[in-house]
Amino acid sequence: MATRATEGERYLHVLAVPLPVQGHLNPLMRFCKLLLKHHQNRGSLRVTFLDFYPSNDSAEPSFPEFHHDCLLQRVRFPLSSLSQKSPSLATFFDSLLCIQSGLEQLIQSFSSHGVPITCLLTDFLTTFPTQDVADKLGINRIALFPCSAAQLLLINYVALRDTLSMETVMDAIKSTERGDELFSDSVAGLPRLLIRDLPHYKHVVDETRRVWKFINRSWEACNSRAHAVVINTFEELEPSPCSLLSQDCDVPVYDVGLWIEILTGDTSTSMHEEDERCIGWLDQQPTSSVLYISFGSTTKISKPQFEALMQGVIDSQQRFLWVMRPGLVDDIDCCSASKEIISRSGKRGFVVDWAPQLRVLSHSSVGGFLSHCGWNSTIESIANGVPILCWPYFADQPLNARFIVDVWRVGLEFKHTGEDGYLIESHEIETVIRSLMEGKEGSFVRENAHELKQKSSRCFDSSGSSLLKLTALINDL
Ligand code: UDP
Repeated sequence: MATRATEGERYLHVLAVPLPVQGHLNPLMRFCKLLLKHHQNRGSLRVTFLDFYPSNDSAEPSFPEFHHDCLLQRVRFPLSSLSQKSPSLATFFDSLLCIQSGLEQLIQSFSSHGVPITCLLTDFLTTFPTQDVADKLGINRIALFPCSAAQLLLINYVALRDTLSMETVMDAIKSTERGDELFSDSVAGLPRLLIRDLPHYKHVVDETRRVWKFINRSWEACNSRAHAVVINTFEELEPSPCSLLSQDCDVPVYDVGLWIEILTGDTSTSMHEEDERCIGWLDQQPTSSVLYISFGSTTKISKPQFEALMQGVIDSQQRFLWVMRPGLVDDIDCCSASKEIISRSGKRGFVVDWAPQLRVLSHSSVGGFLSHCGWNSTIESIANGVPILCWPYFADQPLNARFIVDVWRVGLEFKHTGEDGYLIESHEIETVIRSLMEGKEGSFVRENAHELKQKSSRCFDSSGSSLLKLTALINDL
């Protein structure tokens, strides 16, 4: 047994439990890598990362062989809802609740092999059951909140303060035709919010209320019982939300971002095969000439909206790299849609099922990102200085878009969002793409994006804000 800490040396063994969804897996693994990198020379740290795999209900987790020299070890763990084709959010969260006893056994098994778990690092949305396990076994739990500080601030107000009651938010969200009306310009730390900027889940048949409740209860449990919360953001990016969170919350909140390590080989958390051919294609395009189009891992667009988008992109005459994820458009065969895009755009476009997004965004040929504004995509774009054309759909995406357009001014938006039952028309799409790629507005946001990239590159310098917070967190463990 090689790696038990010698006497007097600090010993830390972190068990990382993700939510098995792409936008949650990536930041958790990145944060584990960050911990390992910055913990060097401070004693012994090992990380065990749980990989959920589809299984039937009765499958027992099989316990791993212990590799004592390995600092980052991955352990497979069964999860029934992953076997179902498209479980509802409720089924998905219920099946997560069932992992509690298996998780306890796993932790006990590590103890009996002489490598006890000293800390649980788990996704915010796995608060139930992981906080219960941590409390029962007397282990510290750190919750990773995979969205912005502003989003957590909004949840904190809704869940814990009376400033915005949940009913007010629900009433506002329900009245979809009022999307462009002002919701509030007085929520401390947040910009002026329109009704359509509020987080919602309308696409999953009015699950908005249920999901909000679940999120609020998770936050209450984190705030009162977790050891700490970490967020992939940095102080200079969200100064007011970060400082209000540290004043207002009972739990210490560490804004220790940005982590943009590439996830490859042993540490890849990609659920899809990345099509590397697009990098070769990008190599042949002029600098800053390509619009990268991706809607992340779960967002869907309607068939008429897809057709308008295809027309708008083609009419804009810009080069583009488009991720046509299978399932992105309902009732459409992705393969023939991809062929159609290519044949109509000539050599100006390249289409993939799934891209190595970080390599794409850091490529010098990419000059803009048409994005659904998921938090990972947002910060990956910021870290690479790529201006964003916002097309938010649900959850935290509208709030992220509000910051991109109005606060950081690193992106543009369409006049209408497609959410409320009307389409963003192809002419509008064409016009705004042209503005971003070759207009004055585009130059303005590109310059701002470049400045924000410089700021973000300094947050892990020797006295950078994220490094200081990370050091404090590690000391606190
Ligand atoms: N991603 C990728 N290739 C793609 C599309 C997305 O690697 O073709 C990655 C992207 O880099 C990000 C994650 O998938 O880390 C998506 O997370 P995000 O928060 O942006 O959106 P979500 O999928 O959660 O809606």
